[in-house]
Amino acid sequence: DSTPKYTGRFAPSPSGQLHFGSLVTALASYLDAKHCHGKWLVRMEDIDEPRCIAGTDTAILHSLEAHGLQWDGEVMYQSQQHSRYQEVVDALLHHEQAYYCSCTRKMIKAMGGTYNGHCRDKGLTPSNDQLAIRLKLDTELASFTDLIMGEVSAPHQKLASAGHRIEDRRVEKQRVEDITIKRRDQLFSYNLVVVLDDVFQGVTHVIRGCDLIDVTPLHRCVHQSLGYQPLEYGHVPVAAIAPGRKLSKQNHATPIDNTTALENIVRALHFLGFDEVKRQDFNSIDSLLSFAVSLWDRKKVVKTPEIIVPQHESTY
Ligand code: GLU
Ligand code: ZN
Repeated sequence: DSTPKYTGRFAPSPSGQLHFGSLVTALASYLDAKHCHGKWLVRMEDIDEPRCIAGTDTAILHSLEAHGLQWDGEVMYQSQQHSRYQEVVDALLHHEQAYYCSCTRKMIKAMGGTYNGHCRDKGLTPSNDQLAIRLKLDTELASFTDLIMGEVSAPHQKLASAGHRIEDRRVEKQRVEDITIKRRDQLFSYNLVVVLDDVFQGVTHVIRGCDLIDVTPLHRCVHQSLGYQPLEYGHVPVAAIAPGRKLSKQNHATPIDNTTALENIVRALHFLGFDEVKRQDFNSIDSLLSFAVSLWDRKKVVKTPEIIVPQHESTY
């Protein structure tokens, strides 16, 4: 069997340059992949084009290279995958696993904020108005075992009451809402394409930031409803400037300084819990990274979902 046992990936959004927080995520996914003798891919998540900034993709790739984080194969761009996404959406519509929805934001608010399947059996087709497309989800959000954080229970606020017809009370149960897979403005939704791309790229292990841990039960649910094998997920702590405020372009996180790559990697390793690594023991990125690959241990990663990093180190 030639299928690789492990394929991991780093999936940055090119809406800003690499900063300390995204370096941590890139490094963790790289080390986990290399420790497991796997492949490590990079995917540019530029599906939400209005939020992307031209040139940040190449800046991110340049920073990864400067930090010795060399990816395998070609970088995939979501913005170039539209026809593949559309084929999946068309097939889902054809098999009545997805349907058009004309509900407004206001109507969904009146439903209590969670979509109740109002348009499921209406057989709507787009005429003059563009309609959103929703995926029928009949499964429940399930808890899962995170490779790093351990047992993660399904977030209850995302659960909806399934009884979209009142007389159906007998079969009413808690289930996930039918998520939008293509928006009214024709943008494919992130929660669809992340699942499709991981499958398309043969990803087996997703190591990413804890800011996405709450959405993982949903991603697992979408995987399952599309008939795919579940993946393994591991979430690492995110760097924040204050509680609930992860480092991001929006709060002016400093782009990582490529000229201090060794120091940056050491700092990221300390952040993840590998305090024993000493900067002075290494004179090249390659020697530091191969040491870190051998040292990597999911059990040793800090289990705090969010870690505040000193302001002067994170912002201008
Ligand atoms: N593109 C997402 C981000 O930059 C990461 C998604 C993922 O790793 O699944 O936050
Ligand atoms: Zn609707």
